[in-house]
Amino acid sequence: MDFNDTPAEAAFREEARAWLKDNAPTEAELADLNFMQQSKLWQKRKYDAGWACIRWPKEYGGRGATAIEQVIWNQEEAKYPDLPGGVFSIGQGMAAPTLMAWAKEEHKQRYLPKLASGEEIWCQLFSEPAGGSDLAALRTKAEKDGDEWVINGQKIWTSGAHYSDYGILVVRTDPNVPKHKGLSYFFLDMKSPGVETKPIKQLSGDANFNEVYFTDVRIPDSQRLGEVGQGWQVSITTLMNERASIGGGGAGSDFRALLDLAQTVTINDKPAIEDAAVRAKLADWHCKRSGLKYTGYRSLSALSRGETPGPENSIGKLVGAPMAQDMASFAMDLMEMSGAVWDEEDSPAEGLFQATFMAIPGFRIAGGTDEIMANIIAERVLGMPQEPRLDKGIPFNEVPTGAG
Ligand SMILES: Cc1cc2nc3c(=O)[nH]c(=O)nc-3n(C[C@H](O)[C@H](O)[C@H](O)COP(=O)(O)OP(=O)(O)OC[C@H]3O[C@@H](n4cnc5c(N)ncnc54)[C@H](O)[C@@H]3O)c2cc1C
Repeated sequence: MDFNDTPAEAAFREEARAWLKDNAPTEAELADLNFMQQSKLWQKRKYDAGWACIRWPKEYGGRGATAIEQVIWNQEEAKYPDLPGGVFSIGQGMAAPTLMAWAKEEHKQRYLPKLASGEEIWCQLFSEPAGGSDLAALRTKAEKDGDEWVINGQKIWTSGAHYSDYGILVVRTDPNVPKHKGLSYFFLDMKSPGVETKPIKQLSGDANFNEVYFTDVRIPDSQRLGEVGQGWQVSITTLMNERASIGGGGAGSDFRALLDLAQTVTINDKPAIEDAAVRAKLADWHCKRSGLKYTGYRSLSALSRGETPGPENSIGKLVGAPMAQDMASFAMDLMEMSGAVWDEEDSPAEGLFQATFMAIPGFRIAGGTDEIMANIIAERVLGMPQEPRLDKGIPFNEVPTGAG
């Protein structure tokens, strides 16, 4: 593949670059706002100028851009690493493509533009205590009552549920059929009576995700996406987009910061970078990063041919996340005693390595654990035999649970 921009792509890049230069919010502009206000300000500004969710059709708030233009925009926006955001990623990256593929036209027109503008935030109510990697084993149930469904059960690890306006939800509507066949998919208003959100405190001290309880929550049947019993197929749309949006993970800024650190701290009175063992480790990570970069280019080539990158996206997460964890751990060792101090003002690199060290274990789990990523690569990229699926074809309510 030719990695240079075509003339049209170069013109698009220039336009994006110029707009970002003139419009990216300054530190002073954001100073008195909290993170949510900052994020909403930036998202709305992009939306008003036609730079939000640029791949979406114009009638739903996008720009009708190509996949490559989206990549170019992402590359240019990434040059401003301090821009606020992140709170919209589940709604825009996972809920919206699912709505686009499965929702009624009136719902697309009602919800997509507000997702693009950042006015409304969505969360993903999939995982449960008994249904994570094995999502189809979920137990939250929905029973039909007239034109409504009554939901009872519990979700867990729901990122952003505490500030979300809407959620996408998979539930069991028929326990008498095999697990994948008895699911249905809805979207719901998070302020519905009977929805209770309880924050979960993380290792890092933050509380970004939640337990969400449903007690007789009523959802109109009109908010169902797909047919009753087709929830698994609709979920696949969401999960494919989740994998595509997580992908990557080259731990770029951490590697540059680690290089800087190795030049400032000392081992035996010499800069650490002169130590052979340190150099060997840095070289190893550099090679892995190059591998990830070219794997990313492979996905880009697929996009430029109009194909959708598939299971190979799992490689980025499986390699990138443990590597970022190893680098953070190594950096903290290089800092010796002060590696244990996590302080934005006093720690080298403003506490970046300590923050990564705390956050990466979650990243290695979210959106598919390391083991699940390895399974996907084994089965779907390398074509190895599937692992045994003992509950295949058995009605869900007859699958042994060990509960006696
Ligand atoms: C930071 C973060 C944010 C999240 N946000 C959301 C969210 O917004 N919405 C949402 O619905 N969920 C969210 N999750 C949940 C996430 O999707 C699940 O945690 C994940 O799918 C794993 O499920 P589990 O926690 O039930 O672990 P389990 O599936 O119980 O796995 C436990 C262990 O067993 C291993 N294992 C399981 N099955 C296999 C297998 N077949 N082969 C080999 N090993 C296996 C796993 O790798 C893991 O080590 C989030 C999680 C994290 C950490």
